[in-house]
Amino acid sequence: MAAGSRQSPVNIETDRAESDHEALSSKPLRWKYPSTASKKLVNPGYCWRVDCDGDGTFLTGGPLMDDVYKLEQYHCHWGCSDSRGSEHTVDGQAFAGELHLVHWNTTKYRTFDDAAKAPDGLAVLGVFLKVGKTHEEMDKIARMLPYVSHKDEIIDVIEPIDPSKLLPVRGGRAGRCVNPCMRWADKIMRQDNKCGFQADDNGYWTYLGSLTTPPCNESVTWVLFKKYIEVSHHQLNIFRNLRKFPRGEECPCHENHGVVSGFL
Ligand SMILES: [Zn+2]
Repeated sequence: MAAGSRQSPVNIETDRAESDHEALSSKPLRWKYPSTASKKLVNPGYCWRVDCDGDGTFLTGGPLMDDVYKLEQYHCHWGCSDSRGSEHTVDGQAFAGELHLVHWNTTKYRTFDDAAKAPDGLAVLGVFLKVGKTHEEMDKIARMLPYVSHKDEIIDVIEPIDPSKLLPVRGGRAGRCVNPCMRWADKIMRQDNKCGFQADDNGYWTYLGSLTTPPCNESVTWVLFKKYIEVSHHQLNIFRNLRKFPRGEECPCHENHGVVSGFL
């Protein structure tokens, strides 16, 4: 479906983004993820992925309106240098990486696969990664990655990982936010405001798009946080050490280059 009309990723042109403050603030985006939801860590060959048990999780509000979505998995994209690696770009600028939390619409569909075929079936929260200080929650994943160093390897998540701690903003509670809470998400974080995150138009960009990997279904409501999280250069290097090929196989790159041995 890669030739469709709502394909992701996109470059976000910030001065062309429209503000729909009222529509988005009348129903704040909110979510909940118990740390026990993270079940398996997988190396599918192009990223790392944590598969979840969606029970007890939800994402609702904002562009999703009253539909309730469950967390299916989260995964991360990165590049071979710190200056690129995100799938979306903002005013032409790439980030070092991009985290995706993938949810499916349990209000309208019975299974993830059914939802993935529907235009309002999936919702993905996207978080940009920038190089900076070590991210503690991300470090739990980085520490486990050597156990899934090769494609198709999978392990149980032993140490609980809280996906909400991977987000740059706090989750809000329904009906608790009134006008005084309408502030930038980062201010709310700093002030430890009891109202939680008010998803106002400074908080995220949203658009209707698609999965970014084949079959590229046009089923995703994207929510991209404007605020990025920091991960260290060392953490990104651990991500980069993951192998795209199964254990016991040779690196497929070697087939194409016959003259690298002089540098070994
Ligand atoms: Zn992704």
